[in-house]
Amino acid sequence: MTRTGLEARTKAFCRCCHKPRTRRKNGCWRGAHNWCGTCTTRWYAAGKPPEGPPPRAGEAQRIAAIRDTCRQAQEARIEDYAFLRRSGESQETAAARVGVSTRTARRVYERTSISARGEAA
Ligand SMILES: [Zn+2]
Repeated sequence: MTRTGLEARTKAFCRCCHKPRTRRKNGCWRGAHNWCGTCTTRWYAAGKPPEGPPPRAGEAQRIAAIRDTCRQAQEARIEDYAFLRRSGESQETAAARVGVSTRTARRVYERTSISARGEAA
């Protein structure tokens, strides 16, 4: 049995991150308990918790940072949209200038900018 044939028969995936597991040069799997090497290392580093490897370090912070950036960009667009509308631009022109569809402008930006103006007044 060639090694490639053996690998083809036994395609294995990590139980934690679902990435394909790899073998060492000697043919043994990297990692343990059907986890890949990376997940196994994380599990050992966390003190071998019974529930398995903890989530990747920084994953929650990375997602929070992406959400934060998106929210800030949307708030900036809403502010620009409200300014353009106050300056007398039509819905279509203001939507095109901030880079959103007229449907989004009507459904989100128009309501938000009106309520923001109501609070400011
Ligand atoms: Zn893994």
